[in-house]
Amino acid sequence: MKSKLILAFDQGTTSSRAILFNHDGEIVRVSQKPFEQIFPKPGWVEHNPNDIWSSQISVAAEVVAQHGINGTDIAAIGITNQRETVVVWDRETSEPIYNAIVWQDRRTARYCDELKDAGHEDLIKKKTGLVIDAYFSATKLKWILDNIEGAREKAEAGKLCFGTVDCWLIWKLTRGKMFITDVSNASRTMLFNIHTMSWDKELMELFNIPESMLPEVKQSSEVYGTTATTLFSTKIPIAGIAGDQQAALFGQMCTKPGMVKNTYGTGCFLLMNTGNKAVYSKNNLLTTVAWKINGETTYALEGSVFVGGAAIQWIRDGLRMVRTAPGINHLAEMVEDNGGVYFVPALTGLGAPYWDQYARGAMLGITRGTTDAHIARATLEGIAFQVYDIVKAMEADAGEKSIELRVDGGATASNLLMQIQSDLFGFKIIRPKTLETTAMGAAYLAGLAVGYWDSIDDIQSQWIVDKEFFPEAPKEKVDNMLHYWHKAVKCTQNWIEE
Ligand code: ADP
Repeated sequence: MKSKLILAFDQGTTSSRAILFNHDGEIVRVSQKPFEQIFPKPGWVEHNPNDIWSSQISVAAEVVAQHGINGTDIAAIGITNQRETVVVWDRETSEPIYNAIVWQDRRTARYCDELKDAGHEDLIKKKTGLVIDAYFSATKLKWILDNIEGAREKAEAGKLCFGTVDCWLIWKLTRGKMFITDVSNASRTMLFNIHTMSWDKELMELFNIPESMLPEVKQSSEVYGTTATTLFSTKIPIAGIAGDQQAALFGQMCTKPGMVKNTYGTGCFLLMNTGNKAVYSKNNLLTTVAWKINGETTYALEGSVFVGGAAIQWIRDGLRMVRTAPGINHLAEMVEDNGGVYFVPALTGLGAPYWDQYARGAMLGITRGTTDAHIARATLEGIAFQVYDIVKAMEADAGEKSIELRVDGGATASNLLMQIQSDLFGFKIIRPKTLETTAMGAAYLAGLAVGYWDSIDDIQSQWIVDKEFFPEAPKEKVDNMLHYWHKAVKCTQNWIEE
């Protein structure tokens, strides 16, 4: 068994990847394929569900073929996926009745405003842990039933299936034998009660969704069944499922309450493990299910920054101050500090804990002495300040102080950004060797279910530190910076008047 490998499916928003992991938790081979992004109208984002499936299964076949193994060498498959994206298909033919509506799609924003105006916010927050937003699946699913000809009749007659991407992939992998999802994906639909851990009748009524469309909700780590596709020579156990951010939390081995991870990608995604408590946020964070293993549910608080690494991209592509993303570090290192310059990268509004879609970016404190190096430094700081604000909100909600932050994502390559982050927090930032924490999490969930790894303790030791960053800046300096940052944030709020 231990000589076998675990195959992780990492089905992302712009590409599908398949990664083989060995028993030491090392990546032995990766295959990746982008697929088409469909933008039918401004604010609309779709994928063809058959592209999602074919790109995912082809990278799986490729990684297995390139590594010169076959199905018998794979101990289990674990799946992690873009969350909230909605697929609706015909139960008989397995044909999607419409494109997948992607999490980024804003077509139901107005309907979400109506729900808020009608006073449904409290009910939805209490039951699902979510704020009302077009981001989550329910309003997208309702849109398909209301707008695609014949959809509602077929749904009422039990002829349609709804699934998030994990569910769709497993349906295809098992040739329609299994119609399942896991608790972490279900918790992002806005139809799932995270306290009773079941689909919620009142919410199904509110959104007018027939229960027969909804998949069975399973744990995140258990043997659900085996593959039935002829693409593998044998039946391989499918044994782990988690939404991408939850999988990353698990891959970072943030398995104890109070542990936090942040992914510094285009945006930033922070999750804090809150153990068996669903912590109700008073600071505009989401409460979500992290995973369920061996009958035990673990919850998390979640907050995201819309513009993280994207601020660096804008400095590169919009202002052309640097030619490459890493170039920002050399420029920022030319100065000792920000010279009084603060950049609030609210380029698309502000995410948690501000939730202000009318905010816009601003640079403040500019003088005759300001140089491009100060702006570069203020950009890195602007990312770190946003992350700081979310962690502080998490601490306030959880009533628990963090002692460290585990990080992953492309922008963690910046040692300067990591140092700034540690200075702001006053605690250590830990960058692990394997930054593929999302796929890693899915592999661990699957491997644990089939006994490939014995226990979480068994894999804990595989999480290896690449570099730790310790706070160096004096407290007075940090306090002063935070004071000016928050003053700058205030200037950007409610900027756009519509
Ligand atoms: P995503 O998965 O959201 O596409 P990635 O995790 O690949 O994002 O991270 C990409 C981001 O990381 C980009 O926004 C880029 O600006 C930033 N980035 C990459 N390398 C560096 C670097 N050496 N220094 C600073 N930022 C970097």
